[in-house]
Amino acid sequence: MTLPVAGVIGWPIGHSKSPVIHRFWLAQLGLDGEYGRFPVAPEDLGAAIRGLRALGLRGVNVTVPHKIAVMEFLDRIGPRGRAVGAVNTVVVEDGALVGRNTDVAGFLEPLRGVFSGGGDGPAIGHAVVLGAGGAARAVLVGLKTLGVGRVTVLNRTVAKGARLLDELGLAGDARPLDAVPDADLVVNATSLGMRGMPPLPVAFDGLRPGACVYDIVYAPLETALLAAARAKGCRVIDGLRMLVGQAAPAFAAFYGVAPPRDDDDALRRLLLAGA
Ligand code: NAP
Repeated sequence: MTLPVAGVIGWPIGHSKSPVIHRFWLAQLGLDGEYGRFPVAPEDLGAAIRGLRALGLRGVNVTVPHKIAVMEFLDRIGPRGRAVGAVNTVVVEDGALVGRNTDVAGFLEPLRGVFSGGGDGPAIGHAVVLGAGGAARAVLVGLKTLGVGRVTVLNRTVAKGARLLDELGLAGDARPLDAVPDADLVVNATSLGMRGMPPLPVAFDGLRPGACVYDIVYAPLETALLAAARAKGCRVIDGLRMLVGQAAPAFAAFYGVAPPRDDDDALRRLLLAGA
């Protein structure tokens, strides 16, 4: 059998943590496979994607700036990819190039057990989402599958937030990035608070104890938002949970076996050591 090879494409790609995650799981399973890091310039995207088949790769994760542009080179796009309008994983399936969006599953993973999505736990009556970019789209698609009642989108470009709610058929409203209103769940899906970026220009006074606050930014792990939420007695979820969660279905698709998830703590330590 040929060695299963997958990888990640982006431009630049040096920052990607995907190789650490996939190689950790390969080693845990004792699986003889490879996971590479491939810098692909925008003008080479089509050739690189067509080359996956020719090279016998199992597939690739796709990161900035290719998540939307890659779609035109694919044979099929899964329902989540179509709903989000972007894919973060391309899998070669019986010779066909299939696009998937695993960010939605990654976002939802740590919310299971907190909110029900139709099950026994509490429903999300009101969610606040900061941001209206690519990641926010995946977050909103995820919230829709959980049956969220109402969403307030806070974004620098308010019209983008309003358009997104409209496009996804979600009840709620869009506002500028300022005060966070009271909600069951608050998600930061902007790039703000990330190392090298300005802090979130929002007041957190509206956060109530017991609310769930989720920052999908993972560098630093403890963002100012999460620190404020912890101080208020909120339940917090950090961005590494989504990062590892989105990698899991991609790993299963590439290597044909689910990754072992009983040592996520060791994986998180490894990811933080390289941060
Ligand atoms: P994006 O499409 O470029 O969107 C960026 C968002 O941040 C937009 O809402 C943008 O507002 C806002 N923003 C950027 N700079 C701003 C500024 N100076 N002031 C105010 N707002 C600003 O990026 P993305 O792909 O959605 O990624 C967003 C974040 O999510 C990144 O930090 C990324 O690392 C993280 N992420 C994490 C995971 C994970 O697995 N944990 C997965 C995907 C993404 P405008 O609309 O007004 O431009």
